[in-house]
Amino acid sequence: MINSIENLRSVKEVHEIILKAKKFFYRKNNEITLIIVSKNLSLKETKKIINQGQKNFGENYVQEGIKKIFFFRKSKNLIWHFIGKIQSNKTKIIAENFDWCHTIDRIKIAKRLNFQRPKNKTPLNVLIQIQTESLDLEVEIFLKNLKKLVKKILTFQKLKFRGFMMMQKKEFSLEKKILNYIKIKNIFENFRKKNKKIDTLSIGTSKDFAIAIACGSNLLRIGSLLTKSN
Ligand SMILES: *Cc1c(COP(=O)(O)O)cnc(C)c1O
Repeated sequence: MINSIENLRSVKEVHEIILKAKKFFYRKNNEITLIIVSKNLSLKETKKIINQGQKNFGENYVQEGIKKIFFFRKSKNLIWHFIGKIQSNKTKIIAENFDWCHTIDRIKIAKRLNFQRPKNKTPLNVLIQIQTESLDLEVEIFLKNLKKLVKKILTFQKLKFRGFMMMQKKEFSLEKKILNYIKIKNIFENFRKKNKKIDTLSIGTSKDFAIAIACGSNLLRIGSLLTKSN
């Protein structure tokens, strides 16, 4: 584990850092939910954060996520977000254990998650991950494919389509990141106009949360900011 427990900021400190950006961009404090990305956190560190009242956690790796979900199953009201790349042989574990999945990128995956979501559970909240490369495609082709995917997902009974997610690449310039976030914001707004149930834009990490907040994020995925030196 990269973090030692003394090196972790408290969740309150993380909220305070983010609050500055919320205020700066005239965003209301309660319109943005903080997900703590726990991929580099041990069980002990995760427990410390749960004890500070944190409810939303993001996991990139199915096995590690399951270990934590199982270990903390007695902690009330925790919400587990799957935010990693999905291999089709892992959809069953995701459908059975997570509350959200942010990284749907094709019909096949949505279909499997829908089929595998247990009948006794509420529908799985899902987001479509928009790859930054796809924003460089011709706009008509990109939108046509996206509309098709959204339309299909909306027919699945055990999935609740909530919106879009994007992850920027490390090497992108600030300008490129801003342009990408403005694009996804506009895409999100256009879909939301037609369907009020589409209410979630999952953008913003430790490196770029301020511009994500400026561009309408309502779900931040924060990991490394939890480490004091970052
Ligand atoms: C790791 C990760 C994050 C968190 O990134 P930090 O820079 O550590 O805040 C957010 N989203 C995804 C998809 C990630 O893999």
